[in-house]
Amino acid sequence: MPDRLVLLGSKGGPALRPGGPWPSSSLLEIAGRTIVVDCGLGVTRGLVDAGISLKTLDLIFITHLHSDHVLELGPLIHTAWTAGLATPVNVFGPAGTGHYWRRFCQAMEFDIEIRIADEGRPDIRELVSIDEFGEGQVVEQGGLKVSALRVDHPPVTDCFALRFEHGGKSVVFSADTAFFPPLADFAEGADILVHEAMLEEGIERLVARTGNGARLRQHLLASHSFAEEAGRIASDAGVKRLVLNHLIPADDAEIGEADWSAAVRKTWAGDLTIARDGLVVGFRE
Ligand SMILES: [Zn+2]
Ligand SMILES: [Zn+2]
Repeated sequence: MPDRLVLLGSKGGPALRPGGPWPSSSLLEIAGRTIVVDCGLGVTRGLVDAGISLKTLDLIFITHLHSDHVLELGPLIHTAWTAGLATPVNVFGPAGTGHYWRRFCQAMEFDIEIRIADEGRPDIRELVSIDEFGEGQVVEQGGLKVSALRVDHPPVTDCFALRFEHGGKSVVFSADTAFFPPLADFAEGADILVHEAMLEEGIERLVARTGNGARLRQHLLASHSFAEEAGRIASDAGVKRLVLNHLIPADDAEIGEADWSAAVRKTWAGDLTIARDGLVVGFRE
């Protein structure tokens, strides 16, 4: 299996609309490791559609605890468990991830206990280990090195960009962040930078449509980046490819790839991918 990145869910925020894209989750396959980054709603379906056997679930990373990044973490692991998961799953997330997982298992206690007794399954609570991380090195394991950088996503303080490195290949996820220049150093020379992005002309229509006008606009401007800003980070970092992801707005019929491209081309001249659910991004040899 060649190394690849699959964008499973490409929209920013938790809302779903008919025929539209789904919240944040990605699959990174590198050197035979199966790595899931963020578990927004739809992650399980996305992994299955990408050809992943849920029994082989291995490493999961959560950038922060906003629901569009973590809502389906428990259901993903539980579904893998009922599919026959028998090997440990390692979850890395910010402070509070363990709390989420313990409470999820409590909420599902009836089903968990009955499947252990009735179907002879191993105890899901013993199959999963949760590591809560902060800034710096997260894990180094079998040649895979993962590090984290705290980014600027108020009012959430524990939100981390992640850098994955293996055998000379590197992929960086910005997580959710306002324009944050230190990301350029963190992403320096990466093969792929997956950066969140908003499109200015789409924000006003989005704000009008969702009905929580001023507050929503204020939140978006304080804690997310415009496509031009993502391009600025990619240029300063000298990455090989920029992937615009966590798109806001993601499902406005009047906004297409050409609009995203026009915005980011003001600051980025290199290889560019605009995310869509299920899109596969390969590595340049
Ligand atoms: Zn988000
Ligand atoms: Zn967020």
